[in-house]
Amino acid sequence: MTDPQPHAWSRRRFTKIMGGAASLATLGTFASACDGPAGSPTSAQAANAGVTKAPTTAASPQPKAAAQNVVDAQLLSSRYGLKPFLPAPPPPTAKAIHLDPNHPTTFSDVPASEKIVFVTIDDGIDKDPAFIQMVKDFKIPLTLSLADTLIRDDYAYFEKLYETGFVSIQNHTVTHPLEMPGLSFQQQLDEVAGQQVKLKREYGVTPYIFRPPGGNYNETTRAAVRQAGLKGMMMWREAMEIEDMEYQTSRRQLNPGDIILCHFRGPAQLKGKTMVQMMTNLYRHIQAQGFAVADVTQYV
Ligand SMILES: [Zn+2]
Repeated sequence: MTDPQPHAWSRRRFTKIMGGAASLATLGTFASACDGPAGSPTSAQAANAGVTKAPTTAASPQPKAAAQNVVDAQLLSSRYGLKPFLPAPPPPTAKAIHLDPNHPTTFSDVPASEKIVFVTIDDGIDKDPAFIQMVKDFKIPLTLSLADTLIRDDYAYFEKLYETGFVSIQNHTVTHPLEMPGLSFQQQLDEVAGQQVKLKREYGVTPYIFRPPGGNYNETTRAAVRQAGLKGMMMWREAMEIEDMEYQTSRRQLNPGDIILCHFRGPAQLKGKTMVQMMTNLYRHIQAQGFAVADVTQYV
Protein backbone atom coordinates (compact mmCIF):
# COMPACT_ATOMS: atom_id res chain seq x y z
CA MET A 1 0.00 0.00 0.00
CA THR A 2 0.99 3.59 -0.30
CA ASP A 3 2.60 5.07 2.73
CA PRO A 4 0.64 8.14 3.82
CA GLN A 5 3.79 9.83 5.04
CA PRO A 6 6.75 7.87 3.80
CA HIS A 7 9.32 9.85 5.72
CA ALA A 8 8.83 8.80 9.29
CA TRP A 9 11.36 11.09 10.86
CA SER A 10 12.78 10.31 14.20
CA ARG A 11 11.38 12.37 17.01
CA ARG A 12 14.71 12.40 18.76
CA ARG A 13 16.54 13.66 15.70
CA PHE A 14 14.28 16.65 15.49
CA THR A 15 14.42 17.34 19.18
CA LYS A 16 18.09 17.99 18.72
CA ILE A 17 17.69 20.10 15.62
CA MET A 18 14.72 22.16 16.64
CA GLY A 19 14.87 24.06 19.84
CA GLY A 20 12.14 25.80 21.75
CA ALA A 21 8.44 26.06 21.37
CA ALA A 22 6.37 28.95 20.20
CA SER A 23 5.31 31.56 22.67
CA LEU A 24 1.93 30.72 24.00
CA ALA A 25 -0.26 33.46 25.26
CA THR A 26 -3.08 31.09 25.98
CA LEU A 27 -3.13 28.21 28.33
CA GLY A 28 -6.82 27.65 28.62
CA THR A 29 -8.67 24.68 29.90
CA PHE A 30 -8.96 21.59 27.81
CA ALA A 31 -11.77 19.16 27.48
CA SER A 32 -11.45 15.46 27.09
CA ALA A 33 -13.70 15.34 24.10
CA CYS A 34 -14.33 17.45 21.09
CA ASP A 35 -17.82 16.63 20.17
CA GLY A 36 -19.46 19.41 18.33
CA PRO A 37 -21.24 20.49 15.21
CA ALA A 38 -19.88 19.37 11.92
CA GLY A 39 -19.03 21.87 9.29
CA SER A 40 -19.65 22.44 5.68
CA PRO A 41 -18.90 20.02 2.92
CA THR A 42 -16.69 20.45 -0.05
CA SER A 43 -15.23 17.93 -2.54
CA ALA A 44 -13.79 13.81 -3.81
CA GLN A 45 -12.69 10.16 -4.28
CA ALA A 46 -10.22 6.98 -3.63
CA ALA A 47 -6.93 5.84 -1.89
CA ASN A 48 -5.28 2.82 -0.46
CA ALA A 49 -5.99 -0.13 1.71
CA GLY A 50 -4.48 -3.30 2.92
CA VAL A 51 -3.68 -6.10 0.58
CA THR A 52 -5.28 -9.38 1.45
CA LYS A 53 -2.81 -12.08 2.22
CA ALA A 54 -2.02 -14.17 -0.81
CA PRO A 55 -0.81 -17.73 -0.68
CA THR A 56 2.92 -17.92 -0.87
CA THR A 57 5.07 -20.61 -2.29
CA ALA A 58 8.73 -21.40 -1.89
CA ALA A 59 9.22 -20.65 -5.55
CA SER A 60 7.89 -17.11 -5.27
CA PRO A 61 8.94 -15.52 -2.01
CA GLN A 62 7.27 -12.24 -1.14
CA PRO A 63 9.51 -9.20 -1.27
CA LYS A 64 10.06 -7.91 2.22
CA ALA A 65 8.33 -4.59 1.59
CA ALA A 66 5.28 -6.35 0.19
CA ALA A 67 5.22 -8.87 3.00
CA GLN A 68 5.02 -6.02 5.52
CA ASN A 69 1.82 -4.85 3.85
CA VAL A 70 0.11 -8.20 3.80
CA VAL A 71 -3.02 -8.33 5.92
CA ASP A 72 -3.41 -11.58 7.82
CA ALA A 73 -7.07 -12.51 7.53
CA GLN A 74 -6.82 -15.33 10.03
CA LEU A 75 -5.24 -13.07 12.60
CA LEU A 76 -7.90 -10.38 12.13
CA SER A 77 -10.57 -13.00 12.57
CA SER A 78 -9.13 -14.49 15.72
CA ARG A 79 -7.99 -11.24 17.30
CA TYR A 80 -10.85 -8.92 16.36
CA GLY A 81 -13.57 -11.07 14.86
CA LEU A 82 -13.26 -9.08 11.65
CA LYS A 83 -12.06 -9.59 8.10
CA PRO A 84 -9.64 -7.48 6.10
CA PHE A 85 -11.02 -4.27 4.66
CA LEU A 86 -11.92 -4.09 1.02
CA PRO A 87 -9.04 -2.53 -0.89
CA ALA A 88 -9.63 1.14 -1.59
CA PRO A 89 -9.51 2.21 -5.21
CA PRO A 90 -6.38 3.99 -6.43
CA PRO A 91 -6.28 7.62 -5.33
CA PRO A 92 -7.20 10.24 -7.90
CA THR A 93 -4.40 11.76 -9.92
CA ALA A 94 -5.70 15.20 -9.04
CA LYS A 95 -6.89 15.76 -5.50
CA ALA A 96 -10.64 16.00 -5.19
CA ILE A 97 -10.44 18.99 -2.88
CA HIS A 98 -7.96 21.63 -3.89
CA LEU A 99 -6.91 23.59 -0.84
CA ASP A 100 -6.22 27.27 -1.17
CA PRO A 101 -3.48 28.43 1.23
CA ASN A 102 -4.82 31.96 0.94
CA HIS A 103 -8.24 30.91 2.15
CA PRO A 104 -8.14 27.60 4.05
CA THR A 105 -11.02 25.45 2.91
CA THR A 106 -13.43 23.86 5.39
CA PHE A 107 -14.60 20.37 4.49
CA SER A 108 -16.47 17.57 6.24
CA ASP A 109 -16.49 15.04 3.46
CA VAL A 110 -14.85 14.44 0.13
CA PRO A 111 -16.81 14.14 -3.12
CA ALA A 112 -16.51 10.48 -4.05
CA SER A 113 -18.29 8.01 -6.27
CA GLU A 114 -16.68 4.92 -4.77
CA LYS A 115 -17.62 3.46 -1.40
CA ILE A 116 -14.81 4.92 0.63
CA VAL A 117 -14.73 6.67 3.97
CA PHE A 118 -11.98 8.36 5.96
CA VAL A 119 -11.15 7.58 9.58
CA THR A 120 -9.82 10.42 11.71
CA ILE A 121 -8.84 10.20 15.38
CA ASP A 122 -8.52 13.22 17.67
CA ASP A 123 -7.01 14.51 20.88
CA GLY A 124 -4.70 11.86 22.37
CA ILE A 125 -5.79 11.18 25.93
CA ASP A 126 -5.85 7.38 25.77
CA LYS A 127 -2.61 5.68 24.76
CA ASP A 128 -3.38 2.00 24.45
CA PRO A 129 -0.41 -0.06 23.23
CA ALA A 130 -2.87 -2.60 21.83
CA PHE A 131 -4.12 0.04 19.43
CA ILE A 132 -0.67 0.37 17.89
CA GLN A 133 -0.82 -3.34 17.18
CA MET A 134 -4.30 -2.91 15.73
CA VAL A 135 -3.03 -0.26 13.32
CA LYS A 136 -0.28 -2.64 12.21
CA ASP A 137 -2.77 -5.50 11.85
CA PHE A 138 -5.39 -3.75 9.71
CA LYS A 139 -3.03 -1.53 7.69
CA ILE A 140 -5.67 1.05 6.82
CA PRO A 141 -4.86 4.75 6.63
CA LEU A 142 -5.78 6.90 9.63
CA THR A 143 -5.51 10.62 10.21
CA LEU A 144 -4.57 11.77 13.71
CA SER A 145 -5.34 15.31 14.89
CA LEU A 146 -3.29 15.80 18.03
CA ALA A 147 -3.47 18.42 20.81
CA ASP A 148 -0.25 18.96 22.73
CA THR A 149 -1.90 19.15 26.15
CA LEU A 150 -3.23 15.64 25.65
CA ILE A 151 -0.14 13.97 24.21
CA ARG A 152 2.76 15.63 26.01
CA ASP A 153 2.90 13.04 28.78
CA ASP A 154 3.85 10.42 26.21
CA TYR A 155 4.97 11.83 22.88
CA ALA A 156 6.63 8.51 22.11
CA TYR A 157 3.28 6.71 21.89
CA PHE A 158 2.30 8.74 18.83
CA GLU A 159 5.75 8.39 17.35
CA LYS A 160 5.21 4.64 17.42
CA LEU A 161 1.88 5.09 15.68
CA TYR A 162 3.46 7.38 13.11
CA GLU A 163 6.24 4.96 12.45
CA THR A 164 3.76 2.24 11.50
CA GLY A 165 3.50 4.14 8.21
CA PHE A 166 -0.30 4.07 8.25
CA VAL A 167 -1.08 7.38 9.92
CA SER A 168 -0.72 11.03 9.09
CA ILE A 169 -0.45 13.61 11.86
CA GLN A 170 -2.43 16.84 11.71
CA ASN A 171 -2.97 19.86 13.96
CA HIS A 172 -5.55 20.08 16.78
CA THR A 173 -4.09 23.03 18.77
CA VAL A 174 -1.78 23.20 21.77
CA THR A 175 -4.32 23.39 24.61
CA HIS A 176 -7.55 22.21 22.98
CA PRO A 177 -9.71 25.31 23.60
CA LEU A 178 -13.29 24.32 22.87
CA GLU A 179 -14.28 27.91 22.25
CA MET A 180 -11.72 29.09 19.78
CA PRO A 181 -14.06 31.75 18.37
CA GLY A 182 -13.89 33.46 21.76
CA LEU A 183 -10.14 33.88 21.51
CA SER A 184 -8.29 36.77 19.94
CA PHE A 185 -6.47 36.37 16.65
CA GLN A 186 -3.13 36.21 18.44
CA GLN A 187 -4.41 33.58 20.88
CA GLN A 188 -5.77 31.45 18.06
CA LEU A 189 -2.56 31.87 16.13
CA ASP A 190 -0.56 30.75 19.16
CA GLU A 191 -2.73 27.63 19.41
CA VAL A 192 -2.27 26.67 15.79
CA ALA A 193 1.24 27.88 15.06
CA GLY A 194 2.47 26.67 18.44
CA GLN A 195 1.25 23.18 17.70
CA GLN A 196 2.93 23.26 14.29
CA VAL A 197 6.24 23.87 16.06
CA LYS A 198 5.65 21.11 18.58
CA LEU A 199 4.59 18.52 16.00
CA LYS A 200 7.61 19.40 13.88
CA ARG A 201 9.86 19.08 16.90
CA GLU A 202 8.42 15.78 18.07
CA TYR A 203 7.64 14.01 14.81
CA GLY A 204 9.30 15.99 12.05
CA VAL A 205 5.96 16.66 10.39
CA THR A 206 4.42 19.85 9.07
CA PRO A 207 0.64 19.41 9.14
CA TYR A 208 -1.46 21.18 6.52
CA ILE A 209 -4.88 20.28 7.90
CA PHE A 210 -6.35 21.82 11.06
CA ARG A 211 -9.19 20.36 13.07
CA PRO A 212 -10.75 22.91 15.43
CA PRO A 213 -11.55 21.52 18.88
CA GLY A 214 -15.23 20.76 19.11
CA GLY A 215 -15.60 21.80 15.50
CA ASN A 216 -15.88 25.39 16.68
CA TYR A 217 -14.28 28.04 14.50
CA ASN A 218 -14.87 31.47 13.05
CA GLU A 219 -13.25 33.62 10.41
CA THR A 220 -10.55 34.58 12.89
CA THR A 221 -9.71 30.89 13.16
CA ARG A 222 -9.43 30.68 9.42
CA ALA A 223 -7.12 33.67 9.39
CA ALA A 224 -4.96 32.11 12.10
CA VAL A 225 -4.83 28.81 10.23
CA ARG A 226 -3.75 30.64 7.11
CA GLN A 227 -1.15 32.66 8.99
CA ALA A 228 0.24 29.45 10.50
CA GLY A 229 0.70 28.03 7.03
CA LEU A 230 -2.05 25.40 7.03
CA LYS A 231 -4.43 25.02 4.14
CA GLY A 232 -7.61 23.30 5.28
CA MET A 233 -10.00 22.84 8.20
CA MET A 234 -11.38 19.33 8.51
CA MET A 235 -14.76 18.62 10.05
CA TRP A 236 -16.69 15.34 9.93
CA ARG A 237 -19.92 13.57 8.98
CA GLU A 238 -20.13 10.87 11.66
CA ALA A 239 -18.77 10.69 15.18
CA MET A 240 -17.91 7.31 16.66
CA GLU A 241 -19.31 6.63 20.10
CA ILE A 242 -18.76 3.38 22.01
CA GLU A 243 -20.90 0.98 20.02
CA ASP A 244 -22.06 2.91 17.00
CA MET A 245 -21.67 6.12 15.12
CA GLU A 246 -23.67 9.26 15.62
CA TYR A 247 -24.98 9.85 12.12
CA GLN A 248 -25.92 13.23 10.77
CA THR A 249 -28.96 11.97 8.95
CA SER A 250 -31.87 9.82 10.02
CA ARG A 251 -30.94 7.21 7.43
CA ARG A 252 -28.10 6.23 9.73
CA GLN A 253 -25.71 5.13 7.05
CA LEU A 254 -22.32 6.01 5.69
CA ASN A 255 -22.06 7.83 2.39
CA PRO A 256 -19.16 7.79 -0.07
CA GLY A 257 -16.47 10.24 0.98
CA ASP A 258 -17.65 10.66 4.56
CA ILE A 259 -15.12 11.67 7.18
CA ILE A 260 -15.60 9.82 10.46
CA LEU A 261 -14.51 11.36 13.75
CA CYS A 262 -13.09 9.20 16.54
CA HIS A 263 -11.09 10.02 19.65
CA PHE A 264 -8.25 8.40 21.50
CA ARG A 265 -10.41 7.16 24.34
CA GLY A 266 -10.11 4.38 26.86
CA PRO A 267 -12.05 2.79 29.71
CA ALA A 268 -12.30 6.11 31.60
CA GLN A 269 -14.15 7.71 28.69
CA LEU A 270 -15.82 4.62 27.23
CA LYS A 271 -17.64 3.16 30.23
CA GLY A 272 -14.99 0.51 30.66
CA LYS A 273 -14.47 -0.32 27.01
CA THR A 274 -11.04 -0.03 25.45
CA MET A 275 -9.86 1.96 22.47
CA VAL A 276 -9.43 -1.29 20.58
CA GLN A 277 -12.97 -2.41 21.38
CA MET A 278 -14.36 0.91 20.19
CA MET A 279 -12.34 0.82 16.98
CA THR A 280 -13.35 -2.79 16.42
CA ASN A 281 -16.97 -1.67 16.60
CA LEU A 282 -16.27 1.12 14.14
CA TYR A 283 -14.49 -1.16 11.70
CA ARG A 284 -17.35 -3.65 11.91
CA HIS A 285 -19.86 -0.95 10.94
CA ILE A 286 -17.71 0.23 8.05
CA GLN A 287 -17.25 -3.29 6.74
CA ALA A 288 -20.93 -4.18 7.19
CA GLN A 289 -21.88 -1.24 4.99
CA GLY A 290 -19.40 -2.32 2.33
CA PHE A 291 -16.97 0.56 2.56
CA ALA A 292 -13.21 0.71 2.19
CA VAL A 293 -11.06 3.14 4.15
CA ALA A 294 -9.01 5.65 2.17
CA ASP A 295 -6.35 8.20 3.05
CA VAL A 296 -7.75 11.71 3.27
CA THR A 297 -4.35 13.23 2.52
CA GLN A 298 -4.50 11.72 -0.95
CA TYR A 299 -7.84 13.34 -1.67
CA VAL A 300 -7.41 16.73 -0.06
ZN1 LIG B 1 -10.59 17.37 20.21
